[in-house]
Amino acid sequence: MRKPIIAGNWKMNMTPAESVVLSQGISNRYGRGGDEVDVVLFPPAIDLRSVITVLDFDRSRVEVGAQNVHWEPSGAFTGEISIPMLKDVGCTWCIVGHSERREMFGETDVQVNRKVRALVEAGMKPIVCVGESLSVREAEQAESFVCDQVRAALAGLEPEEAAACCIAYEPIWAIGTGRTATPEQAEAMAAAIRATVRDLVGDKTADGMRILYGGSMKPANAEAFLACEDIDGGLIGGAALDAEDFVDLVK
Ligand code: PGA
Repeated sequence: MRKPIIAGNWKMNMTPAESVVLSQGISNRYGRGGDEVDVVLFPPAIDLRSVITVLDFDRSRVEVGAQNVHWEPSGAFTGEISIPMLKDVGCTWCIVGHSERREMFGETDVQVNRKVRALVEAGMKPIVCVGESLSVREAEQAESFVCDQVRAALAGLEPEEAAACCIAYEPIWAIGTGRTATPEQAEAMAAAIRATVRDLVGDKTADGMRILYGGSMKPANAEAFLACEDIDGGLIGGAALDAEDFVDLVK
């Protein structure tokens, strides 16, 4: 009932020239793509124009999003990128609150919520990232920590606004480490996230919301996660930088 989604987070990788090669590689292997799964690429902002040009030329169904955005539409915010800019270039999605942004750039729950609200108001689709550190997991606080992040991110949204969002559960200790959560751990957290969403905005939105797992997902382990009842997709880092791996994973 929920359409699976596979999202490739390129992080700070790929020059504009390299981004053309990678998106062409993905497009060549995947063709125009099917309707069974949403596939979204998240290149660095400077690559968006090139990647969208490649995919448009191939009439690909693969969509493109940004890794971050500012909530204000314009103004004196040196170094930032606005939602109108993303929409103008052809982005439909945006990652919000990735743990690397929270940890390295001090992004707070309040900022995450501002971004989510501004994106939804503008008709874009946020992928809200949540996830605990190893110390939080070891202290057996993972579920309450992650569910608090979900509540903060979706605060003030009406059910139909929250319905535009996906949530990606990415345990920080599994990102880029080659160490994944077990499918059981990921499913337990996805179910807790869905219960939190249900509490916040009701059954219809909770039942329809796509919850992704992220953290060292690759072709060899994707199936076990995607088979879980509450996991509807993946947010892929490392394996998204190789066209063959990424398309294998989608398939
Ligand atoms: P990874 O990254 O697949 O390299 O662990 C996932 C992410 O950070 O989105």
